[in-house]
Parts: sequence; C-alpha cells; structure tokens
Amino acid sequence: MSTYAPQHRHSASLQRHFLWLLLSVAGLFAAGIALSLWFSLQAGGQTQQRLLELEARQARVSLVRLLDYYHKLIDNTARDPELIDLMRVGTIEEQQQWAISRQRLLPDLLGLALVNPQGGVLGEAVSLRVGPRCQQDMQRADTLMNIRPLLHREVAGSEHIDLVSAVRETDGEILGGVFLSVRLTQLQRVIDDTFHPDHALILINAAGSTIARQGEIKGALREVRLDIPETGWTLLAQAPVQRFTRGGEMQVLAGLLTLGAVLLLLGATMLRLRRAMLRDIVSTRDALTALARDEAVPAIVPHYVEFEPAAADINRIALHLQEQRARLEHLSLTDPLTELPNRRAFETRFPQAQGLAERQHPVALVLLDIDRFKGINDRYGHGVGDQVLLALAQSLKELTRRADLAARLAGDEFVVLLSGLDTSGVNVWYQRLSDRFRSELNAFGLDLQIGLSAGQTWLGSASSDTMNDALARADHALYQAKALGRGQLVQDGAPGAE
Ligand code: GH3
Ligand code: MG
Repeated sequence: MSTYAPQHRHSASLQRHFLWLLLSVAGLFAAGIALSLWFSLQAGGQTQQRLLELEARQARVSLVRLLDYYHKLIDNTARDPELIDLMRVGTIEEQQQWAISRQRLLPDLLGLALVNPQGGVLGEAVSLRVGPRCQQDMQRADTLMNIRPLLHREVAGSEHIDLVSAVRETDGEILGGVFLSVRLTQLQRVIDDTFHPDHALILINAAGSTIARQGEIKGALREVRLDIPETGWTLLAQAPVQRFTRGGEMQVLAGLLTLGAVLLLLGATMLRLRRAMLRDIVSTRDALTALARDEAVPAIVPHYVEFEPAAADINRIALHLQEQRARLEHLSLTDPLTELPNRRAFETRFPQAQGLAERQHPVALVLLDIDRFKGINDRYGHGVGDQVLLALAQSLKELTRRADLAARLAGDEFVVLLSGLDTSGVNVWYQRLSDRFRSELNAFGLDLQIGLSAGQTWLGSASSDTMNDALARADHALYQAKALGRGQLVQDGAPGAE
C-alpha cells in the first residue's frame, strides 16, 4: 500500500515570502528617505551657516565704519591747533563754550566735552551732558590713553558709549582730552539694518553686557561670533537650527507616494502571480485527477511561458500513461493466442447483455468446446492444437455481429452471446459456425475432422438470474451434448423461459 503523506514541515508560505518582500521594500524605502533627508539637512545647515557668517560680516563692517567715523572725528578734533591753544591757555568758560558750540554742530551726539589730564570735565558736567558714571570712568588713570569705547546704559533713554581722545602738546605732553558720547540707538540702527527676520544679532562688550540686539532665537540655534577689533566687543549672529524644512516635507511626501505606488504594484503583481500559479497548479491537479479516474485528460495550458516546458512534460506523461493504460486494459481483456475477448472481458460485458434480456430482448448464451482436443494436441503437437484454436476463433469473429460477443473462457472452451435470435436461429448459427470452422481448418492446411459441442441457454428476464446461473445451465447443456456423442448443439429451453 502506498504510504505517501504530504510533508508540511518543510513547506514555506508564499504569502509570508511576499509579506517579507513588501516589508523589506518598505524598510529600504524608509532608510532611503531618511538618508536623503539627512543629506539635504546637512547641505541646508552648511548653506545656513555661510549665510549667517555673511550677515555677521556685513554687520561688523557697518559697525566698524560707524565707530571709525567717530574715532576719526574725535582724533581730528583733538589734533586741531586751535583746540590745543584753547587747552593750553583758554579759560574754563571758553572751553565750555567750545564744547557747547560743537554739540550744536553734531546733534546726533549725546554729549561732548573737554576734560583735563585727570579726566575732570572742563565746565559744567550737567550742561555738557556728562553723567556721573562717565566722569568716574574718565578719572581712572588710563582712560585718556584708552581708545576702547566705554558702555553706559544706566539711564534709560540715554544709553550710550563714551569715546575719549587725548589732546597733546607738540612734545607729546597730555593737555587734556576730548570726550564724546554716542547714543546706542546709532549702533542699534546698524544692527537693525542688517537684520534677517528669522535671525538674531547681538553686540556684547568684553564684560558680556549687551550693547545692542535684534531678534531672539528660542530653542536650538547655530551661532557665528565675530570680534570687533580695538573695542573688545563681540558680535553674535544666531539662527534657529532648521530640523525639517518645507523641502524636506515634500521630499518625505514624494518618497512615501513612491513607496505607496511601489507597494501597490508589488502587491498587485504578487496577487496576480499567486493566482496564476494556483490556477496552473489547480489545472495540473484536475488533469492528474482525470488521469486517475480514467477520464478524458484536459491539456494543461500554463499562464506563464516559463511553466510551459513543465506543463508540456506533464501533458506528455499523461498521454503516455493513458496509452499505457489502454494497452494494459486491452491486454487484460484479450486472450493472447486468439485475440478474442477473455473471460474477464466476458464478465465485464455480461451485464449489458443481461440488461437487454431484462428488456425482453432474447439473448442466447452458447458454450462451445472442441471435441477431443487433447487428442489433437497429443497426436499432432501443441502447435497444431493452437492452430485449431485460431481457426475456431477466426470462425467466431466472422459469425458474430457487433452487438454479439464471442470470448475464450479457457483452454478449448468458448462462450458466445447472441442477441436477436430465436431457438432455430441459434441452431442455424451453430450449423454455420461448424461449417465455417471446417473451412477455416482447411484454410490453415489442416485436414482434420474436428467436432464442436455446444450447450445453449437463454439469459433470464429476471434480474435474479445471474451470470453463473446462465453459465451453469449452458454447461449442463454442453455436458449433455458431449454425452449424446459430441459434435452437436443442445438447447436448454425457450427464450424467456428462465
Ligand atoms: P472433450 O471432447 O471431452 O472436450 O475432450 P478434450 O480432449 O477436449 O478434453 P479437455 O477439455 O480436457 O481437453 C482440453 C485440452 O486443451 C487440455 C489442454 O492440454 C489443451 N489446451 C488448453 N489450452 C491450450 C492451448 O492454448 N493450446 C493448446 N494447443 N492446447 C491447449
Ligand atoms: Mg474439449
């Protein structure tokens, strides 16, 4: 017995493979999108940094230019021979008057005054607009030598920086100094002018105090620091770190749309592939099932050209098996010597004849046995015996119609089913067969007188009448024919009697 059992253990799931493939594609896409975003963020960051540096440099140039302007103004004033004279020989009133007249000429300035070598204001500090902090800072030992601006933002609305330039004798002796306060609003204007709306610019002094600022960045920021020469000041340009730009969003969207399209396409292709493969497998199964049931085998027409060789092989094997089966069936139902149907064929065909009998068609069953056949074998040899059998088979083939059946049951015993004959018809048929047998023997070159005993019965119209019953009756009649002297037909009853 066949012990085939399907081995599920090693079967992989097509669906799971497809799923893994889809997941891998999605993963690769996600990695690709992330990588491309990272690259563009890097590139964007570098561009932003360069922009910020440019902005800071522009602001520094403008600031340096402004400070230069006041430095030059104050230095040129300090070198003016008239002022040197005034410092040398002028009275305090004259010196104060000089400062007031200069203030009128330069309305943008907060204050302007002349100071003595110790930093003391020459004249009334209040009317010359020199605040107490300014005076304190100026009275420090090195102030007149210091070119760095001093930041004062104590009084709201009067935030400013102080510049001082020393007035010297021709031999270099310090006679005093020119003092100047520049409003911070002037610096603020420079900062505002170079301001980018999303960025911040901050100007701080060496102590870290803010001199001017514009904008404010919250959260993560990138920064550029530039020192303003000869001031101790630092300019900070700040910009927010852009994590995700609009371009990045579009990039992600484009990536996701492409991914969606690819997944859809892959999914649809996989479903189609799976369906086509299943259809091919089902049509193969149908072909094999038909082959197993001995039905007409439909040819397998595969969906994909790649499966055609395999399908052609299966088709060829099916055809070969069908032919082999037909050959085997023919062999199993045919007597090899005479090529007449054998006993099994007779048994297979018998129900058909029985069906006829049940519908009241007379069907005669005739058993034939060659008389003293053994003696022929013994006397002339087995080969001659075979030729006698062949002569009888040939006679039977010629004297049976398509609806009839002649079969070799065993040895020298044959059975014939004849339909549509009555008792005398069977009798005539037997006579013609005997004559035919004789002439066939002659045709085979055998000059032998061989008798043919026959026993005949009718198939019963009742379904209870079996093949064995009919054969037993015919055998009994045959036995009688032998007993009566051989070479004759004994008929058992009339049609429909059983
Ligand atoms: P009866 O008249 O009583 O029928 O006598 P018989 O000699 O014919 O007796 P039996 O039926 O016993 O003999 C049949 C013989 O047929 C026996 C066997 O040797 C022979 N035989 C069976 N098959 C073949 C065959 O295929 N070829 C040949 N040549 N002889 C066969
Ligand atoms: Mg015999």
